[in-house]
Amino acid sequence: MVVSVYPLTYEKWAEALKQGKLLGLKCKSCGAVFSPPSMLCRECDSEDVEVTEVKDKGVIDTYTVIHVAPLGYEKEAPYIVARAKMEEGFIMVGRLIDVAPEKVAIGSKIKVSFIERQNGLMITFKPV
Ligand SMILES: [Zn+2]
Repeated sequence: MVVSVYPLTYEKWAEALKQGKLLGLKCKSCGAVFSPPSMLCRECDSEDVEVTEVKDKGVIDTYTVIHVAPLGYEKEAPYIVARAKMEEGFIMVGRLIDVAPEKVAIGSKIKVSFIERQNGLMITFKPV
């Protein structure tokens, strides 16, 4: 089945996150859930997806400390970019905040949050 209208735009996703809800997509073909939204199912490339609220908690499975930031972000370095395995199995990447780089540990529990920026929302992870 071809979906003619994409069900979850960035704007809808960002608006929900501002209200404390992490929206994602659930694939009707293979059952995978994921967030933030992408055009196709991350697992099987199906377009047959529906909007669902996903759990906003996970654990850090890897991270890196950025000392040399991209242009425009120099003042924020050093900062931590972490990858989290979420409770429902999908992977999210975000800025880990409220933790010193030397205190980060693989397996630490996080909750998804955000920082509002001029060019949109930046996904952040906070320790829980
Ligand atoms: Zn799928």
